[in-house]
Amino acid sequence: MLLRHTTNKVADRHSLTVNPAKTCQPIGAMYAALGVHSCLPHSHGSQGCCAYHRSTLTRHYKEPVMAGTSSFTEGASVFGGQANLIQAIDNIFTIYNPQVIAVHTTCLSETIGDDISQIAAKAGESGKIPEGKYVFHAGTPSYVGSHVTGFASMTKAMVDYFAEKSGKKRRQINIIPGYVEPSDMEEIKRIAKLMDVPAVVFPDTSNVLNGPQTGKYEMFPQGGVTIDQLKTTGDSMGTLGLGKLASGPAAHALDTKCKVPCRVLDLPIGIKATDRFVDSLRSVAGVNVPDEINIERGRLLDIITDMHQYFFGKKVALIGDPDQLISLTEFLVSIDMWPIHILTGTPGKKFEKRIREITAEIPGPVNVKAGGDMFLWHQWIKNDPVDLMIGNTYVKYISRDEDIPFVRFGFPILDRVGHSYFPTVGYRGGIRLLEKILDAILDRQDRDAPEESFELVM
Ligand code: SF4
Repeated sequence: MLLRHTTNKVADRHSLTVNPAKTCQPIGAMYAALGVHSCLPHSHGSQGCCAYHRSTLTRHYKEPVMAGTSSFTEGASVFGGQANLIQAIDNIFTIYNPQVIAVHTTCLSETIGDDISQIAAKAGESGKIPEGKYVFHAGTPSYVGSHVTGFASMTKAMVDYFAEKSGKKRRQINIIPGYVEPSDMEEIKRIAKLMDVPAVVFPDTSNVLNGPQTGKYEMFPQGGVTIDQLKTTGDSMGTLGLGKLASGPAAHALDTKCKVPCRVLDLPIGIKATDRFVDSLRSVAGVNVPDEINIERGRLLDIITDMHQYFFGKKVALIGDPDQLISLTEFLVSIDMWPIHILTGTPGKKFEKRIREITAEIPGPVNVKAGGDMFLWHQWIKNDPVDLMIGNTYVKYISRDEDIPFVRFGFPILDRVGHSYFPTVGYRGGIRLLEKILDAILDRQDRDAPEESFELVM
């Protein structure tokens, strides 16, 4: 009973968060930067911030996450961090030799008001950035937004700094995959390849944070979009941004900067959202949908049909990031589950409106909140219990206290593996999600069944 003090009396709270349902902007910025090949993320702030961001990513991916820090002390906190950053850029290129450094700010450096563009320009003028190497940056103060907006800002910075328009169109499309797992980025690339659509996927953390054990440490693994690929994005036929919050800003920036038309779609989680993604790939690239994709879709549909009796009418509580929750809610509603408590820690009114539309047909009241916390979500569950909870690792405390089955999904997952290797996007990802949901529901049914109805075949 770790959360034994949670009461079911919901109070109106404005200035207090209890158990936040989000992390800070630089974590998302660092994650996006790792999706650029031979890139060292750099945290412009104190060592403590950087240690927290690195350790959260390391614990989620079970991979060593490297990043530099400007190591602010009292002097930099008062007079600004210019000298620290220029020294850091010099040290990083001299010692670690990455192709590119991605600088993100922290609460402290944003409050001081450090101008990173100006500092990076000064580093270039004074010869600290070697020929053919790059420094780019995103502002990520953590007193606004969340890890998702940090990811979005760093991804947009890739466009702002590198996208070029040569005037000669290329037969390729840009796919901005959103804040998803390396396994999901890999799956998105696989689907594009199956459809014979040449794609530049950015950022791309596959083979960076889910690489193989080779017995040899590589500071900059094989994966990641290259700077040369990023430069070509301005000549692509179109852009698909997956997830409005995480990918929308970069997709629109590319449209504005290089006139590459964009479509911003939901993350392809679940059958309907994946249909829209596949159809957009088909129409933007002018290709046909191959049989392999139709077969995968049919398999997902078959599982839904076979096991529908176990999904029907099950109440679910969801917590996580907005882009994921929108698609996941739609998926659950499409298989006749009833998501009744849906909360994200990332603020945004549009989220609430969209979820209300998706859940309009569900019988009974539905609680939705953007910018809420896990304490409130727990209170909702106490007042209206559910059959299943879906969310990140922190949900395990509520699951234990309330004795409700729980499926891990989202960020961070600190106590299980699999998320880096098995996608939840696409039709195959949908099958994996259903497998996890069914396992949780049927394990509970087995546990609670009296002997006379303990079924062998389900
Ligand atoms: S000070 Fe700001 S940037 Fe640093 S860890 Fe805390 S919330 Fe994140």
